[in-house]
Amino acid sequence: MNTEESNPITWIRNNQDKLVKFIQDIVMIPSISGKEEKVQKFIFQKLTELDLNIEYVYPDIETLQKSDDYFETTSFIKYGYENRPNVAGILKGTGGGRSICLSGHIDVVSPEPVEQWGYDPWSGEIKGDFLYGRGAGDMKAGVAATIFALKALIETQTKLNGDVLIETTIDEEDGGIGGNLYMRLTQPKVDAAIIPEPGGYTIGIASAGVMYFRVIVTGIPAHAATAHFGVNAIVKMLPIIEALNSLNDERQKKIRYKYVELDPTMKGKATTLNIGVINAGDWPSTVPGLCALECRIGFPPGETRDMIMNQIEKTIQNTVNNDTWLKDHPPKIEWFGWKAQPHEQNLEHPFVKLLDRKIQQFAGVEPVYRGGSAGLDTRFFVHHEIPAVTFGPFAERLHSINERVSISSTVKITEILIGTIMDWCGVERNK
Ligand SMILES: [Zn+2]
Repeated sequence: MNTEESNPITWIRNNQDKLVKFIQDIVMIPSISGKEEKVQKFIFQKLTELDLNIEYVYPDIETLQKSDDYFETTSFIKYGYENRPNVAGILKGTGGGRSICLSGHIDVVSPEPVEQWGYDPWSGEIKGDFLYGRGAGDMKAGVAATIFALKALIETQTKLNGDVLIETTIDEEDGGIGGNLYMRLTQPKVDAAIIPEPGGYTIGIASAGVMYFRVIVTGIPAHAATAHFGVNAIVKMLPIIEALNSLNDERQKKIRYKYVELDPTMKGKATTLNIGVINAGDWPSTVPGLCALECRIGFPPGETRDMIMNQIEKTIQNTVNNDTWLKDHPPKIEWFGWKAQPHEQNLEHPFVKLLDRKIQQFAGVEPVYRGGSAGLDTRFFVHHEIPAVTFGPFAERLHSINERVSISSTVKITEILIGTIMDWCGVERNK
């Protein structure tokens, strides 16, 4: 039988309104990293209706700490992992097919400054082809696409050979440690994975290494009228900032990465060292005795965390050697928060080739391969030898005001997911 009712692609085309409603439902539940419980309960309920053996998976810190990918995320420090479940389910195949995991994060970043938005960030309002809201694009529409891809397969009684794992994870905007990393350490190993991060018809094949560090310089506080009795910690920090800036310039000239630089606006920007936070002084009439600087460095595949730490520490040490005060009072360097290694997915893998073909078949365009400028939890799959890509709806203004996602593109992405799952897992023909 191959009537319209038994075709999952037709099903999703006929049920677009339900998909859109579902995106709205989950956009309307705020889920800033650390506060994911409410939306996860909603999704748990939805997936229960689909009979997928749904479970909550709470991160266990001791298991996590054993991983080489582990670091303490800021939302863990603030909220812990107690009320922050991941949600996982499985659509069991009949056997003999390859398995796949559809994994999306459900946490979002803060919508502030809310007064700059033209829409309520938690409304899911629709204008034309776009649905607006914090997390609409990054990445609740993608999550909805994976759930509706499964729904289409189930509603049309399409029997797959391989298993499909579905999961919605926490903590991603903060590093993904309690989310995707914990799932890789505890969930069954699969043969391939798609993370529907926004991108349109691009296939994300790489992520950047991301590390945070802090430099603390001490001085001697004094009254400003007798400033010469003190040592100004801000002034002592200046040559360090300059040296870090020069290091950034040098690195940007030297370090190339094709899949970042394919985007013409990213030419020569495959790596970035950002001077992010500076904390010093508390009174105009006092010479500041302490200055703390916080930076983020992003680096493409090809470099390691050790290489980066060496370069930064050497750069600071060289500056210190040229200043008697700093030499006698060496600044403290602390590596905190993000310690992500980069990843790159081999483009020749049959799974990547299959997705490429499906995009061409359903969307009539050749996909573009991108990635390597930002950290992504896709790395945890690849670090666990599971081929994985990001591929999701077209969205704009992620992490910015008036974030929005294209509805037609979300429907198309769902079709491509269905097509890819069916080919990858195999379909039982004797329905
Ligand atoms: Zn995201």
